[in-house]
Formats: sequence, structure tokens, C-alpha cells
Amino acid sequence: MSLIEQPLAELDQEIRGPIGDIDWTQFANCKGKTKLFFAPKAERPQARERREAKARSLCNACVVKDTCREFARNNHEYGLWGGENEEERHLAGFTIAAPIGVRSRLAKSA
Ligand code: SF4
Repeated sequence: MSLIEQPLAELDQEIRGPIGDIDWTQFANCKGKTKLFFAPKAERPQARERREAKARSLCNACVVKDTCREFARNNHEYGLWGGENEEERHLAGFTIAAPIGVRSRLAKSA
């Protein structure tokens, strides 16, 4: 099976290896594009949706997507990792102190 035919999740598992000792970040599809993955100060919701859509398209073609998502969940990261933003991690049970989307909705409903 060629690299092109191999499912990304399978490739991700191979990169991770049996003991997880390979630096998975060297395979990141987002190198040099950090600004797409973290919200700038006072970002409006529509701008956030557009920025995150672009970032997710990179994540969806990234060979380390599962590893990246797992890292962010376990380390309570902010930003978009493995195609998942902090609100989605929070809703999946990986709580962070102040998830941006949840916090803003709670403030509006109060
Ligand atoms: S899954 Fe997304 S955030 Fe994670 S390394 Fe790949 S491109 Fe970057």
C-alpha cells in the first residue's frame, strides 16, 4: 500500500510508534501557519469560523491528526488541534479553565 492509499489514522499510528517516542510535530501539516490555529485578540465569531475552517482543512489532510488531538486533549491546550477547537475539547470532556465559545455563550445567557 502506498502512502497515498494508506488511511491517515493508520499512518498516524505508525508515526506514533509502539512506544510513542517519535516527535510527531515534525509531520505537522500546519508548520508556518500558527496564526490560523490560534484566535487573535477580540476575534469576531464570523472571523473565527472562517479562520477555523481553513485550519480544519489542513488538519483533515494531516497524517498526525489523531496524535495531535490526543495531545491537546491531555494537555488542556487552547487553539485548534487535530481539527478540534477548545470548545469541542471541553464538550468532549477535556475541560479547560475558560473555553472561548462556551464562555461567551454562558455570558450571553446570564
Ligand atoms: S492535526 Fe492540524 S493542528 Fe495538528 S499537527 Fe496536523 S495540521 Fe497541525
